[in-house]
Amino acid sequence: MGLLKGRVAVVTGAGSGIGRVAAVALAKEGAAVLATDIDEAGLKETADAISAEGGTVETLPQDVTDEAVWDTVMEVAETRLGLPSILVNNAGIAIGGAIPEFSLDDWKKQMSVNVDSVFLGTRAAIRKMHEAGGSIINISSVAGLRGAAGLSAYCASKGAVRLFTKAAAVECARAGWPIRVNSVHPGIIDTPIWQKSITRLGEGMPASPTMPQGANAMDADTLGAQASPMGRPGRPEEVADLIVFLASDKSSYINGQEHVVDGAMTAGG
Ligand code: NAP
Repeated sequence: MGLLKGRVAVVTGAGSGIGRVAAVALAKEGAAVLATDIDEAGLKETADAISAEGGTVETLPQDVTDEAVWDTVMEVAETRLGLPSILVNNAGIAIGGAIPEFSLDDWKKQMSVNVDSVFLGTRAAIRKMHEAGGSIINISSVAGLRGAAGLSAYCASKGAVRLFTKAAAVECARAGWPIRVNSVHPGIIDTPIWQKSITRLGEGMPASPTMPQGANAMDADTLGAQASPMGRPGRPEEVADLIVFLASDKSSYINGQEHVVDGAMTAGG
């Protein structure tokens, strides 16, 4: 407790899944949290969870693809809570489908939500944090480290997040801005994203370790049991603990790196 006392954190996609649990975990460590999401009902649940633990939270509806809103997000954080020094670029979607049938509209939507948002958020954060410093944590995926059949657009988007993160880290460090930028790569984590995306994952695809036969009919428990050597999906709390560490000064010399939390999914066969 108290690892992040006096800090202000902005968390996107905080109305559900990993974002919600990360927002709660950051608040438990003393950070005041601005939680944003397009899902306003979900945001309210997150705010209630933080308040119930005695934490400090504000909420703001935000579509992370909307460029104009990003400077407002940082201003709102500063006005209501204080100068932000932590940004978790977490909001994301997964659009599955075989390449021959994949539409350009879906490709652009995937890139907009998962990649444009990370650029826009990082830019807004650097503008705000470049003097006092901070930590930017971009949520990528194991799909940003290796390919998966039926997930080409998602893999491309998460791979982009991985390398953008490294470039941003080097740029900040070389410029003398005390901002660290790291990416987090979860494996299969038990969140609602699977219920939203799973029906189209792996459709018409041959089986692979990351996309077993019949994956399109599986929930996160079943898929995690098959795809992870640990035989289960991860819990959002297990990702949130890593996010808290990267947000804190305990990771003060860890910068520009990819941090995998996947139950050994990418460690071997
Ligand atoms: P989730 O439960 O679906 O939460 C994502 C949140 O982001 C939802 O509240 C969603 O709202 C919101 N969102 C979607 N589009 C948005 C937009 N344009 N602007 C603002 N908010 C938006 O998913 P999750 O599993 O926690 O995923 C969080 C992050 O972890 C994502 O980047 C995901 O790619 C990554 N990740 C997840 C897993 C996993 O297995 N769960 C694995 C690797 C990486 P709606 O509900 O209204 O869409």
